[in-house]
Amino acid sequence: MNTRYDTLIYNVHIASMQATDAPYGQFKNSAIAINDGVIVALASAANTEVLAEFKALSDNVIDGKQQWLLPGFVDCHTHLVYGGNRATEFELRLKGASYLEIAQRGGGIKGTVSHTRAADKDTLLSSAIKRASRLCEEGVTTLEIKSGYGLDLDTEVRILQVAKELETKLPLSVRTTYLGAHAVPSDFNDNADAYIDFVCQDVLPHIAKQKLADAVDVFCESIGFNLSQTERVFNTARSVGLPVKAHVEQLSDSKGALLAAKFNAQSVDHIEYLAECDVPALANNGTVAVLLPGAFYYLNEEQKPPIDVLRHHNVPMAIATDFNPGSSPLASILTAMNMACVLFRLSPEEALRGITVYGAQALGLNDRGIIDVGYMADFTLWDIDTPAELAYCINGHRPAAIFKGGKRV
Ligand SMILES: [Zn+2]
Repeated sequence: MNTRYDTLIYNVHIASMQATDAPYGQFKNSAIAINDGVIVALASAANTEVLAEFKALSDNVIDGKQQWLLPGFVDCHTHLVYGGNRATEFELRLKGASYLEIAQRGGGIKGTVSHTRAADKDTLLSSAIKRASRLCEEGVTTLEIKSGYGLDLDTEVRILQVAKELETKLPLSVRTTYLGAHAVPSDFNDNADAYIDFVCQDVLPHIAKQKLADAVDVFCESIGFNLSQTERVFNTARSVGLPVKAHVEQLSDSKGALLAAKFNAQSVDHIEYLAECDVPALANNGTVAVLLPGAFYYLNEEQKPPIDVLRHHNVPMAIATDFNPGSSPLASILTAMNMACVLFRLSPEEALRGITVYGAQALGLNDRGIIDVGYMADFTLWDIDTPAELAYCINGHRPAAIFKGGKRV
């Protein structure tokens, strides 16, 4: 062997999240070598000859001190670029104000839209950096961000540009999603069909041409967009070569998941009201079920996603924060993981897969979320006895070290 390695970390327990028989795909007492941002070798520390050779070939040798090494986390569903916040509205609601009263005072999603339209790029960027930093501190290395608080061409473009720019400010990969079909803006006087014309004819082609989005999302719901409007957006996305995902079955069984699966959606998100009979379609089309327990908690919902059926059909379940100003101001992927266990009864191992390998899959990424040779060197080190501690404890842990693209941050 004459290759050199940038970094070798030895004396670590690796929760690889590979699909092996061992819990968490774990390799205890191991070593990992990285070069040019990629994992290039894994070895057991028991094999002292190999380890000595690795050490000799490495520029930077780190003693992992029996800590756990995990893949960098993927938060595959957020809306964290927006103007203003809704703390005052939160106070009003807890004093008994209704949604209608709040809307009449200029609150709700329409309030966020006007604050976002009024915010310039620097204002949006500095608030987004603050929010995304909280996620980075917990070991998130890949983050999805949706537009949808501009709803006009200029602001939607600005949100997506700001989202992408976060990559230059924080140790993160950012995937952007165009969610024009989030709500009907007041400019369209509640004419949802006319607004969908605008999304499909004016905005989506521009965003695709400028390569501002990696995917297209729709809020398909009784209070969002109906099936035929959703299908129009999906068809347009397909015609410009972008994959789709969808907010579906959050408040009612609208059959959005079935439609999304027909379009080979990367993911269907929320799915509290998903019908059991629609689960096989997800399995057959490679669509990931994204669970958003933060929104479930924040809205004090009762209907839970059909976890047992999803499990039975081997549908991959991802977990995300849904970080947004209205229904999930949750800046913690570890808390989302805890909520998925407590509220939805996932096992800690399922929850950890949900923010690593399946979070990546929900974004169409197959180069991360697992610790193995050939995967991106995005990983974290933790001073814990077992990976289950991360789901068990609320706000109890931060990584001892974070590596993004092979570099310690
Ligand atoms: Zn959402």
